[in-house]
Amino acid sequence: MNSMKISQIQKMFSENPDLMTGFYENIFKNIESQNPEYNSITHVYPDIVKKRIEELSQIKNPQDYPLYGVPIVIKENIQKKNYSVQCASKILEGYLGQYDSTAVSSLEKSGAIIIGTANMDEFAMGSSNEYSIHGPVHNPFDKKRVSGGSSGGSAVSCALGFASVTLGSDTGGSVRQPAAFCGIYGYKPTYGRVSRYGLVAYGSSLDQISPFTTSVDDLDTVMKVIGQTDPKDATTLLHNYQGKKACDLAQIKVGIMPSLWSKGVDKSIVESINKTIEQMKKLGVTIKNIDIPTIHKCISTYYIIASAEASSNLARFDGVRYGYREENSQSIQELYTKSRSKGFGKEVKKRIMLGTFTLSQGHYDAFYEKGQQVRNYLKKEIAKAWDDVDFILLPTTPTLPFSIGEKCEDTLFMYLNDLFTVPANLTGIPAISCPMIEGDKETDLPIGLQFYAPYNEDEKLIGFAHALEQKQLFGHHRSDVFMNQGGL
Ligand code: GLN
Repeated sequence: MNSMKISQIQKMFSENPDLMTGFYENIFKNIESQNPEYNSITHVYPDIVKKRIEELSQIKNPQDYPLYGVPIVIKENIQKKNYSVQCASKILEGYLGQYDSTAVSSLEKSGAIIIGTANMDEFAMGSSNEYSIHGPVHNPFDKKRVSGGSSGGSAVSCALGFASVTLGSDTGGSVRQPAAFCGIYGYKPTYGRVSRYGLVAYGSSLDQISPFTTSVDDLDTVMKVIGQTDPKDATTLLHNYQGKKACDLAQIKVGIMPSLWSKGVDKSIVESINKTIEQMKKLGVTIKNIDIPTIHKCISTYYIIASAEASSNLARFDGVRYGYREENSQSIQELYTKSRSKGFGKEVKKRIMLGTFTLSQGHYDAFYEKGQQVRNYLKKEIAKAWDDVDFILLPTTPTLPFSIGEKCEDTLFMYLNDLFTVPANLTGIPAISCPMIEGDKETDLPIGLQFYAPYNEDEKLIGFAHALEQKQLFGHHRSDVFMNQGGL
């Protein structure tokens, strides 16, 4: 893991702001030398960063800024004025942010420095970061393998120490899945915990801006900054994230569904999970079997709802208002058609067609409405589980990171990779992926362990993850993979 935590960076710079210039020069040098191999960063902004450092150096009371001088990278679908918001799509070629998203302005108000933007699957649709106009992102543990997606660029940038915190977006697992593949923490907050103002919408009822970090403390610090109610997003929760709650492991009950991962999940993932469960028991955690039968319907439900919402959200990209335009058109109809046909990639077009179909007259009731019914049903089943347990444990992914190019044409495999992550988005509950201390024995690749918590219990979930981290259950052992922060 990275050698420097947020609190150390914050302390170092508030005592000596002059160190910032050299630190950031190092980060940009690291990115320049490492990024061609990993392709996790799409743009950096050294000139803006330089100005920002000057601005921060003038601050009289830096110790009051929880992220003073802390480097951050954002996914290319989060608005920051004058930074690329290309969403890894041809259709938004050259498009720059017009304003600051609430998450970005909260980070900056706390003293953070946004150094650049991260690669992603086009419009956040994908599970491997291979569907990107910028090309695939490479896994830090094995460059021939995928980083996971869709926030693969953010995951790898965090794992490599280009930034202490990186932001992604999680609509169906896009932060937890790449976190698992890259050996770091990925946290999807309760729906509405973090403002979506300035996030390019994919599935609006599912999307959450979500952070990657290398420690639970860092996660807690960043959540205090971005987990705030926002008048610009009516779906934000009314109370702010309060900070992790203390957790007595001996009082905790965790629900598991072994039958769910008995088939179709890599053997080494099951083994690592079983080992961790045994360790948890030794620490006093009670493990209980639970059942959530509707979970089997989640993938189909998710892909119907997410595609329906995407088809409507992506209607605005018409070649007139933003980015790419096919000039050679005789009519407005032709301009729309040609710009969209050439501007969107294959996977995005697939989703738009699927979504348009399920929303069309005659099909709406059979698909979209049915999907919403299943969603309600699932909510009730999960709510009932909380009568017996505090958290639910699941693998984050059914497989280890696969090879680049191996699965990108296999739609079913790709969609099924989200099996364990989408239920949290469909029901709005918070979920975390933690890097288990033991990776895959044969390949040494990292493995993620996931926990769900009840709606609005973000503080309790992060407190629990922190208690387990303190007991050395998490943190990938191959620290050689992770670079030292900023080369320090
Ligand atoms: N893999 C899922 C999809 O393609 C999740 C994406 C996400 O969370 N943004 O829809």
